Amino acid sequence: MLDVQPIPAFQDNYIWLIKGTQDPATVAVVDPGDAEPVLARLESDGLRLATILATHHHADHVGGIPALVEATGCDVFGPARERLPMEATRLSAGDVARLPACGLEFEVLDVPGHTAGHIAYYGHGALFCGDTLFSAGCGRLFEGTPEQMLASLDAFASLPDATRVFCGHEYTLANLRFAAEVEAGNADIADYALKAADLRASGRPTLPSTIGLEKRVNPFLRSRHENVKLSAERRAGRSLSNPVAVFAELRSWKDTFR
Ligand SMILES: [Zn+2]
Repeated sequence: MLDVQPIPAFQDNYIWLIKGTQDPATVAVVDPGDAEPVLARLESDGLRLATILATHHHADHVGGIPALVEATGCDVFGPARERLPMEATRLSAGDVARLPACGLEFEVLDVPGHTAGHIAYYGHGALFCGDTLFSAGCGRLFEGTPEQMLASLDAFASLPDATRVFCGHEYTLANLRFAAEVEAGNADIADYALKAADLRASGRPTLPSTIGLEKRVNPFLRSRHENVKLSAERRAGRSLSNPVAVFAELRSWKDTFR
């Protein structure tokens, strides 16, 4: 199994550190919004940064990249259709991110919705999905439509259930409060909320999640389920004729949920 470790950054970001399969001291990082905690980890653990993978243009995901490139000379992969603060090998759906120094390869998926050109990296049983999918939630629609985001989430849902999901933020507990509001009778949500609360109480990440778990608890992957649809319709005060309409209602409900 791929050795992936979180490097916490800012309030609730995770920069994911991926150990190489041939030489575990040769590593990649995903979405380094801040260089400082990455440089500190490289130093303390005697690691060499070979490659950075970026999922989208937001500063809390790419802000640390120029300083890391300057300090380490590492390669950078990023989305083909977004403005980035540095040179990068630009990738889109169907491309493969090859990291020979780490012995890794990831398929690239186009997953617009949170941003217009957001990409995700999938390989070695792991998904690095940035701010598209969160555990029990999904990213806000800053640049995309509900239809685009639902298609992006559907693409994730079609991956194997065992796929480990490495999201960009620790939002799980707040997301589960919303999920429980949408589906009060879903025992998987209640179970997961207890486990996630224990993990957070001991200072540990709730991530990675898995696609299988997300399909059971994440309302945004469940807009075709009858109970989720009924709940969205109650909130909307009208019937919602298709999954995109259900998804759009859930997303706007979550935007104002406290
Ligand atoms: Zn973002």
